[in-house]
Amino acid sequence: MNVHDSERLSGSLEAAGYVPADGAEPDVVVINTCAVRENADNKLYGNLGHLAGVKRRHAGMQIAVGGCLAQKDKNVILEKAPWVDVVFGTHNMGSLPSLLERARHNDEAQLEILDALEVFPSTLPTKRDSTYSGWVSISVGCNNTCTFCIVPSLRGKEKDRRPGDILAEVQALVDDGAIEVTLLGQNVNSYGVEFGDRQAFGKLLRAVGGIDGLERIRFTSPHPAAFTDDVIDAMAETPNVMPQLHMPLQSGSDRILKAMRRSYRSERFLGILDRVRAKIPNAAISTDIIVGFPGETEADFEETLRVVEQARFASAFTFQYSVRPGTPAATMADQVPKEVVQERYERLIALQERISWEENQRVVGRPVEVLVSTGEGKKDAETHRLSGRAEDSRLVHFEVPEGSAVPRPGDVVSVTVTQAAPFHLIADSVDGSPLVIRRTRAGDAWDRAQADSCGVPADADAGASGAAGRVSLGLPSLRIGREPLVSPGVGTMPIYDPSDSQR
Ligand code: SF4
Repeated sequence: MNVHDSERLSGSLEAAGYVPADGAEPDVVVINTCAVRENADNKLYGNLGHLAGVKRRHAGMQIAVGGCLAQKDKNVILEKAPWVDVVFGTHNMGSLPSLLERARHNDEAQLEILDALEVFPSTLPTKRDSTYSGWVSISVGCNNTCTFCIVPSLRGKEKDRRPGDILAEVQALVDDGAIEVTLLGQNVNSYGVEFGDRQAFGKLLRAVGGIDGLERIRFTSPHPAAFTDDVIDAMAETPNVMPQLHMPLQSGSDRILKAMRRSYRSERFLGILDRVRAKIPNAAISTDIIVGFPGETEADFEETLRVVEQARFASAFTFQYSVRPGTPAATMADQVPKEVVQERYERLIALQERISWEENQRVVGRPVEVLVSTGEGKKDAETHRLSGRAEDSRLVHFEVPEGSAVPRPGDVVSVTVTQAAPFHLIADSVDGSPLVIRRTRAGDAWDRAQADSCGVPADADAGASGAAGRVSLGLPSLRIGREPLVSPGVGTMPIYDPSDSQR
């Protein structure tokens, strides 16, 4: 959601006449913060410290800080870093261009934090980072009160977007060439709570599925408490809803789930997975797990291991519990010592890696359709492979045999999995035959984007890794001393990258 918000910030700035710095030192730097991550504030103030020096020698440079941490810290940011020009929150992202303008005109810092959403952010212009795949918000905020989570206090109560607006945005994306969308919300399956329709999410999935030309639909994140069978039916009966589900477990201990104020229990959770697999046999199911929540005993943790063993997740985002000031769990007694959390975390990682590997091995020998992507295969150049996501969202690195045509990002290749690793699959050619490539509208859109940004037609040989010239989100690299600066929380990011579990 944070990355998609950055796309909106970029879009709003472009609509106001700003252009990407394209490698030059930028006149405006916007940092979109995420308070869910640990140490977000340290990273923010560290980056702001670096930027202070840049700003001193760059006349007229402006720095803006927005997002969840700004919503939480409000004027603290200007107190700690008075060289910041604009601070804005999660509810008024669209104000960024006017706040920058006002800060320039009045020659003083502008702080604007609203307590509630004024306009649903999807009405803002969006500068999308991908031509083949897009995020579409269906709701923002959350009505739950998980005790470890800062989201409800920073994003507010759930606001549902009108179905017609969602469908119009998906249609517009498809018209622009996208063939994949991910529907976004803090709690997607409670969509409809605002207009009183408990089955609205399943209906929405079916309606989005009817959009001509849309090949892949994903969504994140659902909540086990409100996950009803009509959603499973909609997934199973809508061919372009992908066989993939991200279902956050958080803990396998019912006692800890209660302390977390998560209203399902492990049995219900496992029951959902059984029903999903009964209807969608090849579904890859991923999850989120927190280790070391306050009061977690060894017996509680073993319950988590038991559920993980039974659930057979394809991948998991695993987190060591750490205090988020402002959340109920932050002041709970029995915070678990760091070394205990670390030891449990390592056991969980080892178990999940084994399961991920075993589950990936079951896919070896199967044909898969891979949507070719950019930026997911860090070693692609040296291995002569390209990368993309299978229907179930598994990361696949596939060989481009010598003499074969090269697919473009957004094209779809049909390959057979030849090897499995815990976090990815390999599909190498067994007989050197050329790749089976389906050229798609999304590949054509990538060509057009390349031509627009470079002023030259796309070079097919550049392949999927040839993303040069694309405008990417994130803090531009600024040379400060010898260290390039990187953004604390913005950049292209796969939706479910199992290697993230090591974070
Ligand atoms: S459901 Fe998700 S977003 Fe809502 S409070 Fe719980 S963890 Fe946070």
